[in-house]
Amino acid sequence: MTKTHWISKRTAVAQIAREMAAIGLVSASSGNVSLRIAEPDSPPLLAITPMGKPYHDLKDEDIVVCDYELDTIEGELAPSSESLLHVGIYTRRADVGAIVHTHALHSSVMAVTGEEIPVLLDEMAVSLGGPVKVSDYAFPGTEELADNVCDALGDRAGAIIRSHGAVGVGRDLREALNVCILIERVAHIFTMASLTGKVNPLSEDTIERESAVYRMRRGLPTQ
Ligand SMILES: [Zn+2]
Repeated sequence: MTKTHWISKRTAVAQIAREMAAIGLVSASSGNVSLRIAEPDSPPLLAITPMGKPYHDLKDEDIVVCDYELDTIEGELAPSSESLLHVGIYTRRADVGAIVHTHALHSSVMAVTGEEIPVLLDEMAVSLGGPVKVSDYAFPGTEELADNVCDALGDRAGAIIRSHGAVGVGRDLREALNVCILIERVAHIFTMASLTGKVNPLSEDTIERESAVYRMRRGLPTQ
């Protein structure tokens, strides 16, 4: 196995990570991005952003390929300190191919208030599969945090991590990033709407019909 076996996947992760930073969803080296690697005759692996490397200086070859024990298979740096969160999601969600975790501003407001974002807009049901729930608190980097976030995710595409940030999952990297962009937007909208005292979620019937589109697109069982 050469040291550049997965360079195209590492490049793809680095590009999305730099984009995530460029649009302001993270700063310095906070947050992280990963891509599932599932190949025949290989244990399950992931390509993930490294620990402590600022995005302005992130190179394609800085992305780490590691197994689910977090042993490095390819790359020179240590995998993200939040890698267990990614492993936990890949283990519990077969439909997920990529994960983006942000410390974005408005998402973090929800992480502080602990308030679930109800389904306020059609695109939330279609693209996220329902409301954005908030996980119970757990210490960063732990399996407990991964478990709590998976519980908050359910079969939806995004969740708020209590006192921490947000996570979005997708079939590919672009979809996972778009989920985080949408979470940030609806967190902002929810905060603004709450100030007016007029938060009007969609009806249960509409949410059910629109989230069926989400489940169909992602190959999830219909409810
Ligand atoms: Zn984080």
